[in-house]
Amino acid sequence: MREPRTLSRTGGLIVVLSGPSGVGKDTLLQYFLKTTPGCVRLVTCTTRPPRPDEQHGVDYEFVSVEEFRRMQEAGELLESAEVFGHSYGSPRRFVEEQTARGLDVILRIDVQGGVSVRKAAPEAVLVFLAPPSLEELERRLKGRNTETEESLRRRLAEARREMKAASEYDYLIIHDSTERAAEDLRAILRAEHLRIVKTS
Ligand code: 5GP
Repeated sequence: MREPRTLSRTGGLIVVLSGPSGVGKDTLLQYFLKTTPGCVRLVTCTTRPPRPDEQHGVDYEFVSVEEFRRMQEAGELLESAEVFGHSYGSPRRFVEEQTARGLDVILRIDVQGGVSVRKAAPEAVLVFLAPPSLEELERRLKGRNTETEESLRRRLAEARREMKAASEYDYLIIHDSTERAAEDLRAILRAEHLRIVKTS
């Protein structure tokens, strides 16, 4: 018989948080990280130019197309995807180092990325954040005021596609109240830490 403690996993979790643009992933994450010890967010890379309020190394590592390609070819990315015409990718090293230290690493990435992470790391926990309704999502995106008409249309079309991919995920959280959504996410992580790891 295995020692009880060896039945559940050691080390941190890889947690993917996806959801349509405008659903409030950043709002939830900011609140969640402030109120939950033991979790860190992965800063991902992108070739997209920064928005006025974004900071290099905080919101993203903003890299050139050449640098992105180099990272990809060197195997430095756990996954990468094209979103709205730009490349995005998750640096592998940070994820490995932090989970080895016992921290849960949250990847705020799109659904293509989530599916790739599942292939690369089958133990990853995939959480989908959904708006209470698509009408509410449109209202939030318009309220953000950072999008042009064209970009808004693209993001709404993409949101509908992303919603369909929710069935590939392990958990669904409705982002109604941020406090409640954070509580749901904490409950998921707690359960995942208590999960018995099957050995074959
Ligand atoms: P935004 O340009 O609005 O910051 O992000 C666009 C989309 O790209 C969002 O759905 C965001 O979650 C996703 N994203 C950000 N970083 C990554 C990444 O490293 N990989 C993937 N696959 N998607 C990402």
